[in-house]
Amino acid sequence: MEIIWAPWRLSYVSKVTKEEKKGCFICNAIEDSPSKDKENLLLYRGQKAIVILNRFPYNTAHLMVCPIRHTGNFLSLLPEELAEIDELLKRSVRAIKRAYNPDGFNIGLNLGKVSGGSMDTHIHYHVVPRWLGDTNFMPVIGGAKVIPQSLDETYDILKKFWE
Ligand SMILES: [Zn+2]
Repeated sequence: MEIIWAPWRLSYVSKVTKEEKKGCFICNAIEDSPSKDKENLLLYRGQKAIVILNRFPYNTAHLMVCPIRHTGNFLSLLPEELAEIDELLKRSVRAIKRAYNPDGFNIGLNLGKVSGGSMDTHIHYHVVPRWLGDTNFMPVIGGAKVIPQSLDETYDILKKFWE
């Protein structure tokens, strides 16, 4: 797994405010009714972590694995959170492999806006399937890209292959 390390962020870690959580799309999806999971692109609810489709994917089936707890502080992740995140990363790769047969994956974490992350208050591991001939990972981040499959369709397919 590729982890991009940004120790200078640590000095900015602060207490979670209600306003911060309210503005967090990951927390909003988790706190919303499970009956709205598809609308919220929430693919799987675990005990300590969840899997959600990226609404602005870099590639088809771009998923994110996140702790349920609202935190942007990687060092605060608890062993049980990390264990479930690892398990969900594995299950995500398995589901995407079965559904889409990609040639490879980029799996990683952006810590801090400066690292290329668009949102740094709630940790989210990216799982991006790659096919030969698609663009390079880093240039793709931050740039718009046309995704051939609708998110609805991707959600249904991954749900079917999820186990
Ligand atoms: Zn959050």
